[in-house]
Amino acid sequence: MNNVKPTLCLKKISKSFKQGSQNLEVLKGVDLEIMPGEIVALIGPSGSGKSTLLQIAGLLDRPSKGEITLDEMKCGKLGDGMRTALRRDYLGFVYQYHNLLADFDATENVMLPQMIAGVNAGTAREKSRWLLERLGLGKRLKHRPAELSGGEQQRVAIARAIVNEPKVLLLDEPLGALDLKLRQDMQYELIRLKNELG
Ligand code: ADP
Ligand code: MG
Repeated sequence: MNNVKPTLCLKKISKSFKQGSQNLEVLKGVDLEIMPGEIVALIGPSGSGKSTLLQIAGLLDRPSKGEITLDEMKCGKLGDGMRTALRRDYLGFVYQYHNLLADFDATENVMLPQMIAGVNAGTAREKSRWLLERLGLGKRLKHRPAELSGGEQQRVAIARAIVNEPKVLLLDEPLGALDLKLRQDMQYELIRLKNELG
């Protein structure tokens, strides 16, 4: 027996949406434990509630029932300010549709979360470049989102989500815009980065 605790734990999570007089039950008592260093793939048909579950796990939405625990911290009764702080310090999120800032280039988009966390501009720029190069974007450092392909934008969004080395990285179909070869390369690169950065 060991006593390693899950980094992220979902207990009996239910979620329903009110649609007029109807109650749409999307999640019905989902249990999920993610251990430190573990990679988990959530697989299911379109509309089965994957994004809903990720939004709840990422503290972007609240469940109708159930409890979320991050590093043994119960998140259910926390106020919005505390949840925002936890999102910033613990979680990285890549959405199905990236939301890069249009007026900033790739490097600057990856610098921003670091500078918000108090890293100085020089160090933030260096780490952004290093990470973008690792993700195959070494020749796109100065490109703005509109000058990048969908797959390149998505890789910048991945770099932005992992640059502060969050304990939990939540990815919602992040590689869908990439072709098969690039998708596999990215999967291996993400695994290597996880092993390196923890
Ligand atoms: P997936 O990501 O697996 O494709 P989603 O989690 O996006 O599925 O959606 C699951 C179901 O919940 C869908 O039927 C969707 O219409 C419904 N749903 C998601 N968000 C809302 C919402 N804000 N209001 C009402 N229904 C929603
Ligand atoms: Mg989805």
